[in-house]
Amino acid sequence: MSDDQYQRLLSVQDHDTRIDQLRHRLDTLPERAALANRQQARQLVHDQREALQVRRLELQRNLKRHEDELAAVEDRFKREKDRLYSGEITGTRELLTLQEEVDGLRSRCSDMESDALEQMEEVEQVEAEVDALLAGLESADADVVSGEQHLSEAEAIVRAEIDQEAAARATEAADIPLSVLASYEDLRTRMGGVAVARLRNGTCEGCHLGLSAMQLDRIRHAPADEVCYCEECGRILVRT
Ligand SMILES: [Zn+2]
Repeated sequence: MSDDQYQRLLSVQDHDTRIDQLRHRLDTLPERAALANRQQARQLVHDQREALQVRRLELQRNLKRHEDELAAVEDRFKREKDRLYSGEITGTRELLTLQEEVDGLRSRCSDMESDALEQMEEVEQVEAEVDALLAGLESADADVVSGEQHLSEAEAIVRAEIDQEAAARATEAADIPLSVLASYEDLRTRMGGVAVARLRNGTCEGCHLGLSAMQLDRIRHAPADEVCYCEECGRILVRT
């Protein structure tokens, strides 16, 4: 490895560090969190509206059942009233009993009609709420769409930077022997991102420990093309 190749290896490491930072930035973009918030807000409106729709259906079914019952009572009221005034019944006691029944049915119809009106009002109220939430849902949908747009714009900017760094890294790496690159990559995974360190004043700048006089001597006399490793941390050393 020539000095130039060592410089390139350090440069590869700088680019890799930068790429890691950019990937981290990509994962933690504020636009991503903002979009998640908007999606959550939309879900909330959606759930509210769905619950109200279920309620509306329930109220409509109850109202229908009530109206059917009312129709049956009205029928019976009409029938009994017709019988009362038909002239077919002549017995006083029988007439009185029938009159009481007709009165009872009339009052029951009237009560049931008021109930039906109340129920209708309730249905209308829930319908109005469902409609109002539709507007809220549409606006929440629009928020999600624009949030997605913001995220993809922010992602595109970071991805372009990653591409640039990757291209620059590839150029630097082209001249480095494959065996050294493989060793570098293996070390980089194991050493928390720093695989190559300068050796300055007898100290490894990767682990900041001084090398033994024996090792320094050995490194000093090692052939230029021999890759040396720090005896403390195992990183590739760049002789300066
Ligand atoms: Zn070291």
